[in-house]
Amino acid sequence: NADVAMYHAKENGRNNYQFFSEELNVYHKNRLSIENDLRSAILNDELVIYYQPQFNAELNEIIGFEALLRWEHPIKGLLSPDQFINIAEASGLIVPIGAWVLEQACKQAYEWSQRGTKPYRMAVNLSALQFNHKNLSEQVLHALEVSGLNPSLLELEITESAIIQNINETLALLVSLKGLGINLAIDDFGTGYSSLSYLKNFPIDTLKVDKSFIDEIVTNKKDAAIAQTILQLADNLGLLSVAEGVETKEQVAGLTEMGCTQFQGFYFSKPLPVELVDMLID
Ligand code: C2E
Ligand code: MG
Ligand code: MG
Ligand code: MG
Repeated sequence: NADVAMYHAKENGRNNYQFFSEELNVYHKNRLSIENDLRSAILNDELVIYYQPQFNAELNEIIGFEALLRWEHPIKGLLSPDQFINIAEASGLIVPIGAWVLEQACKQAYEWSQRGTKPYRMAVNLSALQFNHKNLSEQVLHALEVSGLNPSLLELEITESAIIQNINETLALLVSLKGLGINLAIDDFGTGYSSLSYLKNFPIDTLKVDKSFIDEIVTNKKDAAIAQTILQLADNLGLLSVAEGVETKEQVAGLTEMGCTQFQGFYFSKPLPVELVDMLID
């Protein structure tokens, strides 16, 4: 983190300061250039959404998709969110970008649900800034209206950290979102700082078990215990759960034994461009 580096550099005296300030310079230049490029990315049609299927392993069928943002940068090539989401968030650009993703994903879900043999759920990620933006409900309503998507097919993914940033207004916001008829999921569940009492008070539908608990679920008893506890917690509260980042059949077997039925991960499918999903559901 640049600010922390700057602080320590100052603490440690002049030479270090110069050393760090050069690094910082490069860091800031790169960051600024990405921020500038990002400003024009929407207008230039450089943002694209990949869709990762979510599976019901019992029925062996696709139940929905998660919309995952990509950026086809004219020079740097295909960028994943880790390479630009922080900058989008810090600059506020995530608000218009997020609104675009939401609308686009709803339109796509509507199209697939019309064409496929059954409706598909569409999960869309919300950043903390979007979540705390005053027009969120209007944005969601707008996306539903222009797309024609049945609200029950939309699931918004929120992180624990987004929820606790503005805890006083969260309940009212979640209730108003639920009032639109959509679903709410907590993403990366178990990695944040939220309290279990939120699950009691907030109208949440789904817990997504974070990949970090799944990775070593077969070999690490603690990870297995945590994953099992989250799955049971969801079940006991009448919530759905999705295991994220599932990569092997051993993980599927272990999770199935724990009662997990909904899966998302490379074992089933990577995030796919629209054309490939088109072929999958036809
Ligand atoms: P996330 O919402 O937790 O999404 C899951 C991430 O895990 C995705 O990374 C997905 O490609 C990856 N993944 C899924 N299955 C596997 C697996 O089996 N193995 C491995 N190694 N990875 C797997 P991705 O697409 O790079 O997105 C990273 C994060 O960026 C997302 O994490 C989400 O927090 C954020 N993000 C993506 N799209 C958007 C967006 O439209 N808006 C906002 N605000 N954030 C987004
Ligand atoms: Mg997500
Ligand atoms: Mg996640
Ligand atoms: Mg994540």
